[in-house]
Amino acid sequence: MTTPGTTRIDDLPIRDELRGQSPYGAPQLDVPVRLNTNENPYPLPEPLVRRIAERVAEAARTLNRYPDRDAVELRTELAKYLTRTAGHEVTAANVWAANGSNEVLQQLLQAFGGPGRTAMGFEPSYSMHALISRGTGTGWVSGPRAADFTIDVAAARAAIAEVRPHVVFVTSPNNPTGTAVSAETVLALYEAAQAARPSLVVVDEAYGEFSHHPSLLPLIEGRPNLVVSRTMSKAFGAAGLRLGYLAADPAVVDAVQLVRLPYHLSAVTQATALAALEHTDTLLQYVEQLKAERDRLVAELRAAGCEVVDSDANFVQFGRFGSSHDAWRALLDKGVLVRDNGIPGWLRVTAGTPEENDAFLDAVRALMKENK
Ligand code: PMP
Repeated sequence: MTTPGTTRIDDLPIRDELRGQSPYGAPQLDVPVRLNTNENPYPLPEPLVRRIAERVAEAARTLNRYPDRDAVELRTELAKYLTRTAGHEVTAANVWAANGSNEVLQQLLQAFGGPGRTAMGFEPSYSMHALISRGTGTGWVSGPRAADFTIDVAAARAAIAEVRPHVVFVTSPNNPTGTAVSAETVLALYEAAQAARPSLVVVDEAYGEFSHHPSLLPLIEGRPNLVVSRTMSKAFGAAGLRLGYLAADPAVVDAVQLVRLPYHLSAVTQATALAALEHTDTLLQYVEQLKAERDRLVAELRAAGCEVVDSDANFVQFGRFGSSHDAWRALLDKGVLVRDNGIPGWLRVTAGTPEENDAFLDAVRALMKENK
Protein backbone atom coordinates (compact mmCIF):
# COMPACT_ATOMS: atom_id res chain seq x y z
CA MET A 1 0.00 0.00 0.00
CA THR A 2 1.27 3.50 -0.73
CA THR A 3 0.92 5.56 2.46
CA PRO A 4 -0.33 9.12 2.05
CA GLY A 5 2.25 11.73 3.04
CA THR A 6 5.42 9.68 2.61
CA THR A 7 6.17 10.96 -0.89
CA ARG A 8 6.10 14.69 -1.60
CA ILE A 9 5.51 16.23 -5.03
CA ASP A 10 9.13 17.32 -5.16
CA ASP A 11 10.27 13.69 -4.67
CA LEU A 12 8.67 12.87 -8.03
CA PRO A 13 10.46 13.36 -11.36
CA ILE A 14 8.21 16.40 -11.92
CA ARG A 15 9.03 19.28 -14.32
CA ASP A 16 11.46 21.72 -12.68
CA GLU A 17 9.20 24.76 -13.10
CA LEU A 18 6.41 23.03 -11.10
CA ARG A 19 8.66 22.35 -8.08
CA GLY A 20 7.60 24.31 -4.98
CA GLN A 21 4.42 25.62 -6.62
CA SER A 22 0.94 25.60 -5.02
CA PRO A 23 -2.27 24.70 -6.88
CA TYR A 24 -5.03 27.30 -7.42
CA GLY A 25 -7.12 27.11 -4.28
CA ALA A 26 -9.84 29.45 -3.13
CA PRO A 27 -10.96 28.00 0.24
CA GLN A 28 -14.28 26.11 -0.04
CA LEU A 29 -15.49 26.60 3.56
CA ASP A 30 -18.93 25.84 4.95
CA VAL A 31 -19.96 29.35 6.03
CA PRO A 32 -23.45 30.98 6.03
CA VAL A 33 -22.48 33.76 3.58
CA ARG A 34 -19.98 32.76 0.87
CA LEU A 35 -18.90 35.72 -1.23
CA ASN A 36 -15.40 34.63 -2.22
CA THR A 37 -15.36 33.10 -5.71
CA ASN A 38 -17.33 35.54 -7.87
CA GLU A 39 -20.13 33.07 -8.44
CA ASN A 40 -23.64 34.14 -9.32
CA PRO A 41 -25.71 33.66 -6.11
CA TYR A 42 -28.92 32.80 -7.95
CA PRO A 43 -29.63 29.14 -8.69
CA LEU A 44 -30.86 28.50 -12.23
CA PRO A 45 -34.64 29.12 -12.55
CA GLU A 46 -36.85 25.99 -12.43
CA PRO A 47 -38.08 26.20 -16.06
CA LEU A 48 -34.43 26.18 -17.17
CA VAL A 49 -33.63 23.26 -14.85
CA ARG A 50 -36.48 21.33 -16.51
CA ARG A 51 -35.27 22.28 -20.00
CA ILE A 52 -31.74 21.11 -19.12
CA ALA A 53 -33.19 17.77 -17.98
CA GLU A 54 -35.04 17.43 -21.30
CA ARG A 55 -32.06 18.29 -23.46
CA VAL A 56 -29.70 16.10 -21.43
CA ALA A 57 -32.18 13.19 -21.71
CA GLU A 58 -32.14 13.69 -25.48
CA ALA A 59 -28.34 13.70 -25.48
CA ALA A 60 -28.29 10.58 -23.26
CA ARG A 61 -30.01 8.58 -25.99
CA THR A 62 -26.89 8.88 -28.15
CA LEU A 63 -24.19 8.78 -25.48
CA ASN A 64 -22.86 5.60 -27.10
CA ARG A 65 -21.54 7.95 -29.79
CA TYR A 66 -18.88 10.65 -29.44
CA PRO A 67 -20.30 14.20 -29.25
CA ASP A 68 -20.20 16.74 -32.08
CA ARG A 69 -16.44 17.30 -32.05
CA ASP A 70 -16.68 20.87 -33.31
CA ALA A 71 -19.78 21.78 -31.21
CA VAL A 72 -21.26 23.57 -34.21
CA GLU A 73 -24.80 24.07 -32.86
CA LEU A 74 -23.45 25.45 -29.58
CA ARG A 75 -20.96 27.76 -31.32
CA THR A 76 -23.78 29.00 -33.57
CA GLU A 77 -25.95 29.87 -30.57
CA LEU A 78 -23.02 31.52 -28.73
CA ALA A 79 -22.35 33.59 -31.86
CA LYS A 80 -26.00 34.69 -31.91
CA TYR A 81 -25.77 35.65 -28.23
CA LEU A 82 -22.63 37.73 -28.82
CA THR A 83 -24.09 39.37 -31.93
CA ARG A 84 -27.18 40.35 -29.95
CA THR A 85 -25.47 41.56 -26.77
CA ALA A 86 -21.87 42.54 -27.53
CA GLY A 87 -22.32 45.01 -30.38
CA HIS A 88 -20.61 43.09 -33.16
CA GLU A 89 -21.77 40.48 -35.64
CA VAL A 90 -19.99 37.12 -35.35
CA THR A 91 -20.72 33.63 -36.68
CA ALA A 92 -19.85 30.11 -35.53
CA ALA A 93 -16.59 30.40 -37.50
CA ASN A 94 -15.49 33.19 -35.11
CA VAL A 95 -16.41 31.29 -31.95
CA TRP A 96 -14.72 28.42 -30.08
CA ALA A 97 -15.92 26.78 -26.87
CA ALA A 98 -14.26 24.66 -24.17
CA ASN A 99 -14.69 23.46 -20.58
CA GLY A 100 -14.63 26.85 -18.88
CA SER A 101 -12.70 29.85 -20.12
CA ASN A 102 -9.72 28.45 -18.22
CA GLU A 103 -9.57 25.70 -20.84
CA VAL A 104 -9.99 28.26 -23.62
CA LEU A 105 -6.99 30.15 -22.20
CA GLN A 106 -5.02 26.93 -21.85
CA GLN A 107 -5.69 26.03 -25.49
CA LEU A 108 -4.61 29.53 -26.56
CA LEU A 109 -1.37 29.16 -24.61
CA GLN A 110 -0.79 25.67 -26.00
CA ALA A 111 -1.11 27.09 -29.51
CA PHE A 112 0.53 30.51 -29.09
CA GLY A 113 2.75 30.10 -26.00
CA GLY A 114 4.78 27.08 -24.91
CA PRO A 115 8.45 26.41 -24.19
CA GLY A 116 10.74 29.27 -25.25
CA ARG A 117 7.79 31.67 -25.39
CA THR A 118 6.55 34.28 -22.94
CA ALA A 119 3.17 35.59 -21.80
CA MET A 120 2.53 38.86 -19.97
CA GLY A 121 -0.32 40.26 -17.88
CA PHE A 122 -0.76 43.41 -15.83
CA GLU A 123 -0.88 42.43 -12.17
CA PRO A 124 -2.66 42.24 -9.83
CA SER A 125 -4.92 40.32 -12.17
CA TYR A 126 -6.43 36.86 -12.57
CA SER A 127 -3.85 34.51 -11.03
CA MET A 128 -4.66 31.65 -13.42
CA HIS A 129 -3.11 33.54 -16.37
CA ALA A 130 0.30 33.01 -14.76
CA LEU A 131 -0.53 29.47 -13.59
CA ILE A 132 -1.82 28.30 -16.98
CA SER A 133 1.23 29.87 -18.59
CA ARG A 134 3.47 27.89 -16.28
CA GLY A 135 1.45 24.72 -16.86
CA THR A 136 1.94 25.03 -20.61
CA GLY A 137 5.68 25.71 -20.28
CA THR A 138 5.19 29.38 -21.20
CA GLY A 139 7.36 31.95 -19.42
CA TRP A 140 5.44 34.54 -17.38
CA VAL A 141 6.26 38.22 -16.98
CA SER A 142 4.25 40.43 -14.63
CA GLY A 143 3.55 43.81 -16.21
CA PRO A 144 2.82 47.01 -14.29
CA ARG A 145 -0.44 48.52 -13.07
CA ALA A 146 -0.89 52.03 -11.62
CA ALA A 147 -1.51 52.56 -7.88
CA ASP A 148 -5.25 53.00 -8.58
CA PHE A 149 -5.19 49.58 -10.37
CA THR A 150 -5.79 51.04 -13.85
CA ILE A 151 -3.37 50.19 -16.66
CA ASP A 152 -0.83 52.98 -17.19
CA VAL A 153 -0.67 52.89 -20.99
CA ALA A 154 2.82 54.37 -21.32
CA ALA A 155 4.30 51.99 -18.72
CA ALA A 156 2.47 48.99 -20.21
CA ARG A 157 3.61 49.84 -23.75
CA ALA A 158 7.19 50.20 -22.53
CA ALA A 159 6.99 46.80 -20.79
CA ILE A 160 5.63 45.15 -23.96
CA ALA A 161 8.39 46.75 -26.07
CA GLU A 162 11.03 45.51 -23.65
CA VAL A 163 9.75 41.95 -23.01
CA ARG A 164 8.31 41.30 -26.50
CA PRO A 165 5.83 38.71 -25.14
CA HIS A 166 4.17 36.19 -27.47
CA VAL A 167 0.86 36.47 -25.60
CA VAL A 168 -0.51 39.52 -23.77
CA PHE A 169 -3.44 39.21 -21.33
CA VAL A 170 -5.75 42.16 -20.72
CA THR A 171 -8.51 41.39 -18.20
CA SER A 172 -11.53 43.67 -18.49
CA PRO A 173 -13.20 44.02 -16.08
CA ASN A 174 -10.12 43.02 -14.13
CA ASN A 175 -10.16 40.42 -11.39
CA PRO A 176 -9.67 41.11 -8.44
CA THR A 177 -9.93 44.89 -8.77
CA GLY A 178 -13.10 45.20 -10.92
CA THR A 179 -11.38 47.77 -13.15
CA ALA A 180 -12.62 48.06 -16.75
CA VAL A 181 -10.11 48.73 -19.53
CA SER A 182 -11.05 51.23 -22.24
CA ALA A 183 -11.06 50.36 -25.94
CA GLU A 184 -8.36 53.03 -26.46
CA THR A 185 -6.08 51.31 -23.96
CA VAL A 186 -6.62 47.88 -25.53
CA LEU A 187 -5.86 49.34 -28.97
CA ALA A 188 -2.69 51.01 -27.68
CA LEU A 189 -1.51 47.73 -26.14
CA TYR A 190 -2.44 45.81 -29.29
CA GLU A 191 -0.38 48.19 -31.43
CA ALA A 192 2.57 47.89 -29.05
CA ALA A 193 2.28 44.09 -29.08
CA GLN A 194 2.14 43.98 -32.88
CA ALA A 195 5.12 46.33 -33.20
CA ALA A 196 7.12 44.26 -30.71
CA ARG A 197 6.63 40.85 -32.30
CA PRO A 198 3.63 40.49 -33.39
CA SER A 199 1.88 38.71 -30.51
CA LEU A 200 -1.56 37.44 -29.57
CA VAL A 201 -3.58 39.80 -27.35
CA VAL A 202 -6.18 38.01 -25.22
CA VAL A 203 -8.91 40.20 -23.73
CA ASP A 204 -10.37 38.19 -20.84
CA GLU A 205 -13.99 39.38 -20.54
CA ALA A 206 -15.15 36.76 -18.02
CA TYR A 207 -17.12 39.54 -16.27
CA GLY A 208 -18.02 41.49 -19.42
CA GLU A 209 -21.79 41.33 -18.89
CA PHE A 210 -21.50 43.15 -15.54
CA SER A 211 -19.67 46.17 -16.93
CA HIS A 212 -21.01 49.73 -17.19
CA HIS A 213 -19.18 49.83 -20.56
CA PRO A 214 -19.86 47.98 -23.81
CA SER A 215 -17.96 44.80 -24.69
CA LEU A 216 -14.54 45.09 -26.36
CA LEU A 217 -15.64 42.44 -28.87
CA PRO A 218 -15.96 44.87 -31.84
CA LEU A 219 -12.18 45.36 -31.64
CA ILE A 220 -11.60 41.91 -33.20
CA GLU A 221 -12.67 43.34 -36.58
CA GLY A 222 -9.60 43.58 -38.81
CA ARG A 223 -7.32 42.47 -35.94
CA PRO A 224 -6.59 38.75 -36.37
CA ASN A 225 -4.28 38.69 -33.35
CA LEU A 226 -6.96 39.91 -30.93
CA VAL A 227 -9.07 37.38 -29.01
CA VAL A 228 -11.96 38.02 -26.63
CA SER A 229 -12.58 35.28 -24.07
CA ARG A 230 -15.93 34.84 -22.28
CA THR A 231 -17.61 32.40 -19.90
CA MET A 232 -21.03 31.12 -18.87
CA SER A 233 -19.73 30.73 -15.28
CA LYS A 234 -20.66 34.24 -14.13
CA ALA A 235 -23.44 36.04 -16.06
CA PHE A 236 -25.23 32.77 -16.91
CA GLY A 237 -24.95 31.58 -13.32
CA ALA A 238 -23.52 28.30 -14.53
CA ALA A 239 -20.07 27.92 -12.94
CA GLY A 240 -20.78 24.21 -12.44
CA LEU A 241 -21.46 23.72 -16.15
CA ARG A 242 -17.86 24.52 -17.19
CA LEU A 243 -18.43 26.37 -20.44
CA GLY A 244 -16.17 29.11 -21.72
CA TYR A 245 -15.75 30.47 -25.22
CA LEU A 246 -13.78 32.87 -27.34
CA ALA A 247 -14.50 35.11 -30.31
CA ALA A 248 -11.79 35.98 -32.81
CA ASP A 249 -10.75 35.74 -36.42
CA PRO A 250 -11.66 32.26 -37.81
CA ALA A 251 -7.92 31.56 -38.19
CA VAL A 252 -7.57 31.63 -34.36
CA VAL A 253 -10.40 29.09 -34.11
CA ASP A 254 -8.52 26.90 -36.62
CA ALA A 255 -5.34 27.31 -34.55
CA VAL A 256 -6.85 26.13 -31.24
CA GLN A 257 -8.21 23.06 -33.01
CA LEU A 258 -4.60 21.97 -33.48
CA VAL A 259 -4.19 21.53 -29.72
CA ARG A 260 -7.65 20.69 -28.34
CA LEU A 261 -8.32 17.14 -27.29
CA PRO A 262 -10.77 15.42 -29.62
CA TYR A 263 -14.35 15.50 -28.26
CA HIS A 264 -13.28 17.76 -25.37
CA LEU A 265 -16.84 19.11 -24.89
CA SER A 266 -19.12 16.29 -23.75
CA ALA A 267 -22.59 15.86 -25.28
CA VAL A 268 -24.02 16.56 -21.80
CA THR A 269 -22.12 19.85 -21.57
CA GLN A 270 -23.22 20.91 -25.05
CA ALA A 271 -26.86 20.04 -24.33
CA THR A 272 -26.82 21.91 -21.00
CA ALA A 273 -25.20 25.01 -22.46
CA LEU A 274 -27.71 25.07 -25.32
CA ALA A 275 -30.59 24.86 -22.84
CA ALA A 276 -29.11 27.76 -20.82
CA LEU A 277 -28.75 29.86 -23.98
CA GLU A 278 -32.49 29.39 -24.63
CA HIS A 279 -33.07 31.23 -21.32
CA THR A 280 -30.65 34.09 -21.90
CA ASP A 281 -33.18 36.86 -21.29
CA THR A 282 -34.18 35.56 -17.86
CA LEU A 283 -30.56 35.04 -16.86
CA LEU A 284 -29.60 38.54 -17.97
CA GLN A 285 -32.30 39.94 -15.66
CA TYR A 286 -30.33 38.47 -12.75
CA VAL A 287 -27.25 40.23 -14.12
CA GLU A 288 -29.10 43.55 -13.90
CA GLN A 289 -30.01 42.83 -10.26
CA LEU A 290 -26.41 41.93 -9.48
CA LYS A 291 -25.13 45.11 -11.13
CA ALA A 292 -27.46 47.16 -8.91
CA GLU A 293 -26.29 45.21 -5.84
CA ARG A 294 -22.64 45.73 -6.87
CA ASP A 295 -23.24 49.49 -7.11
CA ARG A 296 -24.94 49.41 -3.72
CA LEU A 297 -21.96 47.57 -2.20
CA VAL A 298 -19.57 50.22 -3.56
CA ALA A 299 -21.70 53.07 -2.14
CA GLU A 300 -22.32 51.42 1.25
CA LEU A 301 -18.70 50.37 1.73
CA ARG A 302 -17.61 53.94 1.04
CA ALA A 303 -20.24 55.21 3.50
CA ALA A 304 -18.83 52.78 6.08
CA GLY A 305 -15.42 54.42 5.69
CA CYS A 306 -13.74 51.87 3.41
CA GLU A 307 -11.62 52.67 0.39
CA VAL A 308 -13.26 51.05 -2.64
CA VAL A 309 -12.02 50.54 -6.19
CA ASP A 310 -14.62 51.45 -8.86
CA SER A 311 -16.08 48.16 -10.09
CA ASP A 312 -17.41 46.96 -13.44
CA ALA A 313 -17.62 43.34 -12.31
CA ASN A 314 -19.81 41.31 -9.94
CA PHE A 315 -17.35 41.89 -7.10
CA VAL A 316 -15.77 44.79 -5.28
CA GLN A 317 -12.25 45.34 -3.97
CA PHE A 318 -12.25 47.19 -0.67
CA GLY A 319 -9.83 48.16 2.11
CA ARG A 320 -7.62 49.29 3.37
CA PHE A 321 -6.75 47.18 6.36
CA GLY A 322 -3.53 47.06 8.37
CA SER A 323 -3.61 43.30 7.77
CA SER A 324 -5.90 41.93 5.09
CA HIS A 325 -5.57 38.48 6.62
CA ASP A 326 -6.76 39.69 10.04
CA ALA A 327 -9.69 41.53 8.42
CA TRP A 328 -10.52 38.40 6.35
CA ARG A 329 -10.46 36.30 9.55
CA ALA A 330 -12.62 38.81 11.46
CA LEU A 331 -15.27 38.74 8.69
CA LEU A 332 -15.12 34.94 8.64
CA ASP A 333 -15.72 34.90 12.41
CA LYS A 334 -18.87 36.94 11.71
CA GLY A 335 -20.01 34.26 9.21
CA VAL A 336 -18.96 35.97 5.99
CA LEU A 337 -16.35 34.48 3.64
CA VAL A 338 -14.64 36.98 1.32
CA ARG A 339 -11.40 36.67 -0.65
CA ASP A 340 -7.89 37.64 0.36
CA ASN A 341 -6.04 37.80 -2.95
CA GLY A 342 -2.74 38.63 -1.31
CA ILE A 343 -2.88 42.33 -2.22
CA PRO A 344 -1.68 44.03 0.98
CA GLY A 345 -4.49 45.98 2.66
CA TRP A 346 -7.28 44.88 0.31
CA LEU A 347 -10.04 42.25 0.24
CA ARG A 348 -12.53 41.29 -2.47
CA VAL A 349 -16.23 40.60 -1.98
CA THR A 350 -18.54 39.05 -4.57
CA ALA A 351 -21.99 40.63 -4.98
CA GLY A 352 -24.49 38.13 -3.55
CA THR A 353 -28.22 38.26 -2.96
CA PRO A 354 -29.51 41.44 -1.21
CA GLU A 355 -29.73 39.45 2.07
CA GLU A 356 -26.15 38.15 1.75
CA ASN A 357 -24.90 41.64 0.94
CA ASP A 358 -26.73 43.06 3.96
CA ALA A 359 -25.08 40.44 6.19
CA PHE A 360 -21.70 41.29 4.67
CA LEU A 361 -22.22 45.05 5.10
CA ASP A 362 -23.27 44.59 8.76
CA ALA A 363 -20.10 42.55 9.35
CA VAL A 364 -17.91 45.23 7.72
CA ARG A 365 -19.54 48.04 9.69
CA ALA A 366 -18.91 46.10 12.91
CA LEU A 367 -15.31 45.47 11.85
CA MET A 368 -14.72 49.16 11.05
CA LYS A 369 -16.05 50.10 14.52
CA GLU A 370 -13.77 47.54 16.20
CA ASN A 371 -10.79 48.85 14.22
CA LYS A 372 -11.39 52.49 15.18
N1 PMP B 1 -11.08 34.76 -16.30
C1 PMP B 1 -11.25 35.45 -15.16
C2 PMP B 1 -10.83 36.87 -15.12
C3 PMP B 1 -11.83 34.82 -14.05
O1 PMP B 1 -11.97 35.51 -12.90
C4 PMP B 1 -12.23 33.47 -14.14
C5 PMP B 1 -12.88 32.72 -13.00
N2 PMP B 1 -12.66 33.11 -11.75
C6 PMP B 1 -12.01 32.81 -15.35
C7 PMP B 1 -11.44 33.48 -16.40
C8 PMP B 1 -12.30 31.34 -15.53
O2 PMP B 1 -13.61 31.03 -15.43
P1 PMP B 1 -14.22 29.70 -16.01
O3 PMP B 1 -13.09 28.73 -16.26
O4 PMP B 1 -15.17 29.24 -14.97
O5 PMP B 1 -14.87 30.11 -17.29
